Amino acid sequence: MLVILLFGPPGCGKGTQGKLIVEWLPARIPTISTGDMLRGEIAAGTPLGLQTKSVIAAGNLVSDELVNQILRARISRPDCQNGFMLDGYPRTVEQAEYLDTVLAELGMPTPVVLHLDVPADVLVGRMVSRRNCPKCGRMYNVLTMKPKVDGICDDDGTALATRADDREDIIRDRLKTYADVTRPVLSHYPGDRYFQIPGERSTQYVFEEITEILERFLAEEAAAPKATAPESANAAAEAAQPVR
Ligand code: AMP
Repeated sequence: MLVILLFGPPGCGKGTQGKLIVEWLPARIPTISTGDMLRGEIAAGTPLGLQTKSVIAAGNLVSDELVNQILRARISRPDCQNGFMLDGYPRTVEQAEYLDTVLAELGMPTPVVLHLDVPADVLVGRMVSRRNCPKCGRMYNVLTMKPKVDGICDDDGTALATRADDREDIIRDRLKTYADVTRPVLSHYPGDRYFQIPGERSTQYVFEEITEILERFLAEEAAAPKATAPESANAAAEAAQPVR
């Protein structure tokens, strides 16, 4: 079981790498993006969406209490039994401590932290040119990953949108929050499970570096002693069931 934490400033490529990683991994695991979950709540007009809409549009962080609650509910679901990948969580030291507690309760391992490091000036340029399809969620970039027809999703013909918080002034605030509040979270993780990856290079190059790291953990897991008696395999699987 692998718990992967994709870490890095907004716009560093977590979403793009996350998709490639889950397609590549031998076991099916979900990607959990707290940002996507919150945008989903806003789009559906739920009470949580209404509560968080203005905070997100202003580029501020949603309270630890709210985010921790949605995270806990999500990783307790059965599709997380083989592990999962987090994108955009934890973003504060309090969230990292909370995650430790929940992982221990669920009998899950310490995360492997993949830190995509990209200089701030590169990030601003990347984010102002980001577009997404509001229907299927596919991401584009008007400079580097253009749709076939300007402003239209290749997959479903929907008009592309820009995220409310991808405005230059708000991007700068988000980057400051990252530097002040989120980056310090890295000191929370042990050195042997933390990997800093320069994220400025091509998508493929970054992905290859990530797969080399993950291959080591997959090999370790394959070599780890399994339960001895055949019937105990079921017991181990049951013990790994989420606590509800
Ligand atoms: P993202 O898509 O990860 O860039 O997240 C978009 C926005 O959602 C952030 O700027 C925050 O307002 C909010 N958000 C997402 N994840 C978290 C989190 N772990 N803690 C607090 N706020 C979050």
